[in-house]
Amino acid sequence: MSTSLAPFQVCVYCASSDQIDAAYFKDTERLAELLVERGINVVYGGGGSGLMGCLATTMVRKGGHIKGIMPHFMKDVEWAHKEVKEFLFVADMHERKKAFLQNTDALIALAGGCGTFEELFEAITLKKLGLFTKPIVILNTNGYYDPLVEMLDRSIREGFMGEVHAQMWTVVSRPEEIIPAILNAAPWSEDAIKFAKG
Ligand code: AMP
Repeated sequence: MSTSLAPFQVCVYCASSDQIDAAYFKDTERLAELLVERGINVVYGGGGSGLMGCLATTMVRKGGHIKGIMPHFMKDVEWAHKEVKEFLFVADMHERKKAFLQNTDALIALAGGCGTFEELFEAITLKKLGLFTKPIVILNTNGYYDPLVEMLDRSIREGFMGEVHAQMWTVVSRPEEIIPAILNAAPWSEDAIKFAKG
């Protein structure tokens, strides 16, 4: 058993789809085990399907602490994970994204679709403006995020962002690299607003 990092809270963004390769579930399960081992608290979208469901089911069954944050309308259509005890139900998607980042010590993006992209990009945008300063780690299972990483690199190469902005995120290939990447992330401060323009 590794050393506890409690009280430490991470927010995990990930897929709601079940129609994806087993490799994504395997990495999600492994991440959940590692978070439980380290006593790290998790907030996530609250869903019971896809990688969200896998993350929460594994955390709950291994005795970890996970909280779902979900708009009422999703609860109403029964998307909330049945085994997750702690929930914050919010008015809408905007409030939810705000709540994800409150009291969060780091952000982890696993593979996902447009919902995950949107959440990840909002966090990167807020970080660029100095409004969110915590580590952001992207798990690149199966090289899924290669085109997205290439797009981010290109935006820097072409001057849409500065070289310094590449320090806002870390891309890793294996779940075991996530916690070390969080602990070794480049420091970021609210002063980022001073160099936000490219
Ligand atoms: P995606 O990456 O497109 O699968 O979306 C993941 C994110 O989309 C979640 O954090 C939610 O914002 C939302 N979402 C989409 N489907 C669901 C679902 N079945 N249950 C909960 N959240 C969902």
